[in-house]
Amino acid sequence: MGSITLRNVSKVFGTHTVIPSIDLSIDNGEFVVFVGPSGCGKSTLLRLIAGLEDVSGGQIVIDGKDATNLPPAKRRLSMVFQSYALYPHMSVRSNIAFPLKMAGEDKTAIERKVEEAARILNLTDYLDRKPRQLSGGQRQRVAIGRAIVRQPVAFLFDEPLSNLDAALRVNMRLEISQLHQQLKTTMVYVTHDQVEAMTMADKIVVLNKGNVEQVGSPLELYRRPANLFVAGFIGSPR
Ligand code: ADP
Ligand code: MG
Repeated sequence: MGSITLRNVSKVFGTHTVIPSIDLSIDNGEFVVFVGPSGCGKSTLLRLIAGLEDVSGGQIVIDGKDATNLPPAKRRLSMVFQSYALYPHMSVRSNIAFPLKMAGEDKTAIERKVEEAARILNLTDYLDRKPRQLSGGQRQRVAIGRAIVRQPVAFLFDEPLSNLDAALRVNMRLEISQLHQQLKTTMVYVTHDQVEAMTMADKIVVLNKGNVEQVGSPLELYRRPANLFVAGFIGSPR
């Protein structure tokens, strides 16, 4: 289902090579975190996987099929944006239903999927509220609900918690980890926050200037950082 393979993937903007060449494989059901300093190419890499940017070279295989030239809607991935991407004038129900309406699904199927997502995310009692009547954490859950209803083969998160306060961030980390355990769907999660990476990931991909410095479990990276950059970034005692 949700395996993702990048082969020799590169991205150039004008004369600026943002990603020289990346090879990476993500297994079905894995929680993979891309971590690295601001500007290192995390969002670009995620957007290449999502199909929101075209690769300059290389191949992207999703669920065993060549997806390199597929438009975003055909990749069966759901990108989770920050909660402020919600439509303020629409109810929670309509916000979650929105991608299904756009896809032309019938009303009964939409209702069923929205209610299922609301149940998973503890939003059942809030379906008729507007985003402004919700807490920050609830809003973030609505944004996740909108991703869930599309039943993607993988979820892509781009720093989804960066506009939440510290206490709420800790809470939402746990909620997203629990959601992963429950759904067992592949999740690719971008952050510049080492603590987020170390606490949430099955596998961490450390990026630096568009290159992969190391791939490994949090424990592997902590115990055996490949170089000083990884050691410094992860905060391990090398
Ligand atoms: P990160 O998410 O790790 O902070 P980004 O992937 O957003 O990094 O950006 C990596 C580099 O690519 C930055 O130098 C950024 O300026 C550049 N970049 C990103 N998107 C574009 C674009 N559309 N056009 C030109 N340069 C871009
Ligand atoms: Mg970014």
